[in-house]
This record gives sequence, structure tokens and C-alpha cells, in this order.
Amino acid sequence: MEVILKKTKTILFFLAVLLIPAASLLAAPDPNFHIYLCFGQSNMEGGGKIEETEKTVDSRFQVMADFDVHERNWKKGEWYDAIPPLTQRTKGISLVDSFGRTMVASLPKNIRVGVVKVGVSGTKIELWDKDGFREYLATADDWKVQIANEYDGNPYEYLVSLAKIAQKSGVIKGILLHQGESNATDKDWSKKVKKVYDDLMKDLNLKAESVPLLAGEVVNADQGGEKASANEIIKKLPETLPNSYVISSAGLPSNADKLHFTADGYRQFGKRYTEKMLSLLGYKISDSKSPKPSFLVSHPQEWLEPFEPFKIAGNLYYVGTRGLANYLITTPKGHILINSDLEENVPQIKASVEKLGFKFSDIKILLISHGHWDHNAASDTVKKLTGAKYMVMDADVANVESGGRTDFEYGSEPIALYKPTKVDRVLHDRDKVKLGGTVLTANLTPGHTKGCTTWTLKVKEAGKTYNAVIIGSPNVNPGYRLINNESYPNIAEDYEKMFRVLKSLPVDIFLGSHGNYFGMEAKYARLSREGFSVFIDREGYNQYVTSKEIEFRKELARQKAALPK
Ligand SMILES: [Zn+2]
Repeated sequence: MEVILKKTKTILFFLAVLLIPAASLLAAPDPNFHIYLCFGQSNMEGGGKIEETEKTVDSRFQVMADFDVHERNWKKGEWYDAIPPLTQRTKGISLVDSFGRTMVASLPKNIRVGVVKVGVSGTKIELWDKDGFREYLATADDWKVQIANEYDGNPYEYLVSLAKIAQKSGVIKGILLHQGESNATDKDWSKKVKKVYDDLMKDLNLKAESVPLLAGEVVNADQGGEKASANEIIKKLPETLPNSYVISSAGLPSNADKLHFTADGYRQFGKRYTEKMLSLLGYKISDSKSPKPSFLVSHPQEWLEPFEPFKIAGNLYYVGTRGLANYLITTPKGHILINSDLEENVPQIKASVEKLGFKFSDIKILLISHGHWDHNAASDTVKKLTGAKYMVMDADVANVESGGRTDFEYGSEPIALYKPTKVDRVLHDRDKVKLGGTVLTANLTPGHTKGCTTWTLKVKEAGKTYNAVIIGSPNVNPGYRLINNESYPNIAEDYEKMFRVLKSLPVDIFLGSHGNYFGMEAKYARLSREGFSVFIDREGYNQYVTSKEIEFRKELARQKAALPK
């Protein structure tokens, strides 16, 4: 008997030892699980289209299910990967999505972020006052009462009860509010927000100094916001609520109703909340969506791939690789080469020139499309091999002579640097380059580089004369800042000028500094059967320039909208 009792005691003791740590482990909130409470009206609910790329998420970003959602197998009060929609009642993307995504992308890897979100569209801040919401609902529209009823008739209490569950696993670090449209002229709004905030602090046993509240503005006056007057009231919130911060809505795109933000507006807005929250935590925003472009890591393969040289028309020849365009213009007095490319390309260009029956050493003039390494890194080598005179547009000269070190964007990118090359003749807009009866015009088409040059020349073929245009580059490269660019203040105006120039040029033969500008490979494939007319393509030129102009305007608008106020 004694023995059995002892045994039982021992078993119980071991069970206790086993159970206690497990239980305490479950109960202890993880200080590295940061929780944000999110509430407000329709712009907190969100609703923009969810993009394909948003259907996956870093599992460090979690959302607490606000309802049992059978089709997603979600149980109310449990944590899930924050794949949108984040709440049962809304179907789209919200500012909380981009908030959480950018937070986990910017925070150390050991920190996770969880959100608890409740939004009730069309309702006043009074709905969240636990002492006043009944009075408010008694006079509110039926549809609002119905939504409130889905949250057991008391959205504040619903939020608090979810928050209490959340506190078992993590630590509440902040509150995101988006509300105000329904109180657009209410001078007491700040006081009412403070009441809700104070209640939350009390009911959740939080310290006001460690839980900031971030309140976003409604659709801005600069977008014609229907309730923009609310922003004058929202701006003053920190005067009443000390640990609160106002998130600007300046420039954020809105729907036609001028009340709700577009999906992209929500994405940008969420990032602005993130930026503020991170700065309060002592971190900086990092956007994992903008890593270094691959061409700054290694040369694209097609730049180095040989391509059969061919005659375009008259005395104009293609001597480039598959990805980098070089042009040879032959004359009785020697030849002109456009672009020297990378050092690795020089033997290829030389072989192409010789394959066409010309001498590389007869090149008298070297020109470039613009001062980027893929068009000019080997200029010093080509000069030394041929003795050619190097002629460069004024605004690109300093950069070319510094070996790319003064480039406004790539000056400290190792891959973009090259041997500094002395320029023999400085060209100005519309200057002529003449050799053996051929005349080329240097058209300044700036933006992509400050001295980006579009070359034009007349080419004779079968008794007719054609205008050939070799576009310098109309591209806005990834990372280019079109606004507040200290290294290139007038970049946006320069792009405008470039498009004006390109649209003004007479064009028969459409060419460019990369073959893909003008569909080089497809045209080359048709060349042997259809002859040189495959390059006569005014329509293709117009389409290309128009599409590039649209891209530029889109990017400019995007950057304008993303500007912090
Ligand atoms: Zn370039």
C-alpha cells in the first residue's frame, strides 16, 4: 500500500513537473509578438482589389480571425497568416494589409506582427464610446445598426474581447484608427477619440505612454475629398491626446466617390502608418519590393550574346549583340561607330564590322546613345584600337570623363563604373557630325541621362532617302527619383522635353540603343524575305514612344502620391 501511494505521488510529481512549464509557456505573452488594434469606419474596413502577389504573405504577419469563417477554416479568436481579406465582413485589401507587410519587412526577423481589426462603415466615433454607443445606435440608420449587431451590438466590447485574447500571446504596441468622415464637422471629435482611447487603456490594462494611437486623415482636399474638412479637426488630435499621431492623406488616390481610397491608396496609406510606427519604435522603413535591379548585379546575358551583323539600309549597319545595339555608318572617308558597349563586347563589335567587309581600324568617329556603361564602358578601348575621335553630348561629358562616377543614379554602383574616357568634341543639342558626305544630328533627349542623345540621319536606299532615328532611351529606370532628386533636380522636365523631341522627329526607319526598343529580332527574321522595308516603321515608333510616355506619367504620378506631406 505504502509503495503504491509513493508511486502515485511520484507519478503526480512528474506530471506536475511536465505540466507546469508547458502551461506557463502557453500563458506567457511573447514580447516579440507585436499586436496592433485597428478600428474605425469604412476606410478602415478597406475594399480595394486584392492583387495576385498579395495572396501570399510572410507568416510573421498574423491576423486574429474576427469571426468563424468556415470556407477559410478560421476560428474566431485564433491567429492566422494575414492573407487578405483580413476581416470576415470585407472582401478587399485594406491599409492594414500594407501596414503589416511593411512592418515585418522592416523589423528584425525575430519580431512578429499581429493585427486585431474591427471596422463599421458609416458610423460615428460615438459607436466606440462604451457609455454612449446605445444612445447613438438608437438614432442611427438601420443598416448601421445591423452591422453593429453582427458585433453582438457592441463593436467596442467586441474589439476589447478579441484584444484580451490577443494579449495572451503578444503585447499590444499600438492602435490604428481610421475614422472621421461621419464626424467631419464635429469639433469635439478629438475629445471623443480620447475617451475611447482612455477606455481601451483601462479595459486592457495598458499604459498610455507605451501605446501610441495613429489616426489617418480622410480623403484629402488635394483629391477633392468630400469630407476633407474633417482633416482640420483630425490634425489637432495630438493637442487633446498626447500619445497620438496624425497620418497624412496628401496625394493618396481616391475612388470616384471622393470618400474612399483606391486599392493603391490603401497600400500607400498603410506604408505611411508603418513609417510613423517604425520611427516610434526606433526603426526605419525598408521596402523589400525594391531590391537592387538585376542589371546592377550582373550583365544581362543578351548583352553579351553575339548577333549576326546586317545591313539596315544604305550605309547604315547593325553590328551589336542581341541585347546591345551598335551601328556602323560607313563612308568613303572612314566610318562612324555608335556605342562602344562593355569591354567584353569589343571583340564582338570588331568581328561584326569585319564580317561585313569593313576595317575596324577605319572607324574615325565614336558616338554614344547616352552615358551608361552598357553603351560606353569600352569607349577608351575603342579609341585606342581605332584612333577615333570621341564626340559626346555636353551634359554627359563630365560623367563620361569620370568613368561613370558622377552619374546621378549609378555613380557608386561598381558594375556601372568604367575607364574614364577623354572626350574630343563636346556636342550641343542639334549639332551635326559630318564624315564623307554623311551627316548625323545629335538630338538632346534628356531624362534617362542628362545628355541622352537620339541620333538622326538620312539614309539612301534604292534611289530614295529615308529618315533614320536611333532613340537614346526613353526609359525611367527602377529607382529613378523623378521628384526631389538632388542630383538631377529638373529630371521630370527633361523627360517631358525628351518626349516632345521624339514626337517631333520625322521618322521612316525606327532604331534604338537596344534592339528590343524596335523589335530588332523579329524584324531581322523577316529581313531576308521582305528586304530593308521591315525597318520602315513609323507606326511602331509612335506606339513605342506613346507607351513609354504613359509609363513615365504613371511613374511620376505614383511618386507624387507617395510623397510625405
Ligand atoms: Zn541607359
